[in-house]
This record gives sequence, structure tokens and C-alpha cells, in this order.
Amino acid sequence: MSILFVSDLHLHEGAPAVVQAFYDFLKQRARGATALYILGDFFDAWIGDDDDAPLGHEVAAQLRQLADTGVAVYLMPGNRDFVLGHDFAQRAGATMLPDPTIIDLNGQTTVLLHGDSLCTLDKPYMALRAQLRSPEWQAQALAQPLAVRRAMAQQLRAKSKTMNSSKPEDIMDVTPEAVVDLLRQSNASLMIHGHTHRPQRHAHTVDNSPAERIVLGDWHDNAWCLVADEQSLTLEHWPINTAG
Ligand code: MN
Repeated sequence: MSILFVSDLHLHEGAPAVVQAFYDFLKQRARGATALYILGDFFDAWIGDDDDAPLGHEVAAQLRQLADTGVAVYLMPGNRDFVLGHDFAQRAGATMLPDPTIIDLNGQTTVLLHGDSLCTLDKPYMALRAQLRSPEWQAQALAQPLAVRRAMAQQLRAKSKTMNSSKPEDIMDVTPEAVVDLLRQSNASLMIHGHTHRPQRHAHTVDNSPAERIVLGDWHDNAWCLVADEQSLTLEHWPINTAG
């Protein structure tokens, strides 16, 4: 019985190979799993659950097929799809999770998060994040017509590109102190997150006790999935067939 973790698929109409790789994953690798956790940036952009574009509806239907086979599907929004909500989750047969969420993973207390909240050295981003995650801003944004929201999403993407192009590498990564703080607060010995697109397993020490942080990879050239079995944790990846 496996529990699967993925993040940063950045699904969008412009990357049909990634969308297909995800559908294949749902029909093959994810079948028979106990649970599937999607830890943010599932979509490259999300303008609201009332979006009438076909991709979101298709993805929800595909997820629903997996959920109907008995796999528990959990969704956590990321910084690209922060307004992903309960209407989408309901269509997909999924359960929304807050960021962060603490679970018992085969007896190990584990904290799950998207990961952007750990990039505390990036002050301009943290300020933008606080604004975008505030209920007031979100309510106001979601009250706009779809066309206006599409334009807003494009502006946000452009803004993020210019903000990030001039930043040193360490500012774009997580802050080690923020990792240790969250592990301590969560009383967890395992942390699983995405966002940085730097798939890796890291050893940490929290108050003299060993802890591990597993960073999931983005789905671009490869698909990445952390597989938790009762006795093992394996960070798997396989190539995405972009040849069509
Ligand atoms: Mn992200």
C-alpha cells in the first residue's frame, strides 16, 4: 500500500505532454495507491473554480476517476494556484489541505507544505505572498469577471519572472532556519515540499534529533513522485515523452 506525493506539475494548455503524463500516472502508477497528495502548483495558473476553460474540467474528471477507485486524493494550493478551492476539489473527488498540514505517515510525524513559505530571505516575494493569500484580496479578485482574472494571472506571472530573474540562487531556495523552525513547531521528523524545483533528500538536525526533508521535483522533462511504503521512502522520476 503506497502513499504518493507530487507537486509542481504546472499543468497548462501549452504543455500537453505533461498533461498526458499526469493522466497516464493516474491510470497506472497511482492505481491501487492508498492516497495521492498533490502539494501545490498543480496548475501553472488558476483563476478560480468557476473557470470555464476545458483543462481544469478535464483534470477534475481524470482525478475523479482515480478517487472513485478508492484512492484518497488530497490537494494543497501552491503559489501559482492559490485560489484553487472546494468547488474544484468536489468535482475532482479530492479533499483540500491547508498549508502546512501535519500527517502521520506510516508512524512518522510528517509536515507537508508547498514550500514557498520557507523562502523567507525573499522579502519582496513574502510581502506579495501575504497580499495574495489574504481572504480580502482573494474575495475581491474572485469577484472580477473571468477575462479580468485571466489578465491578472498573466500580469502576476510576468511580475514573478522579472522579480526572480535578478535574484541570487540562495534567496530562491528555502531558508535552513525556517525549515528547522517548522519541523520543531510541527513536532515532525519528516518534511515534504516542492516549489523550488530542486528534487533532493536533505538531512537536518532539530534539537539534536535527526530529521529529513524531501523536496519533490517539477514535471517538465521528468515526472517526479515520492512513494511512501510502510518500510521505505523512494523519490522516483521518469521521463516525460515530449515527442508526442
Ligand atoms: Mn511554487
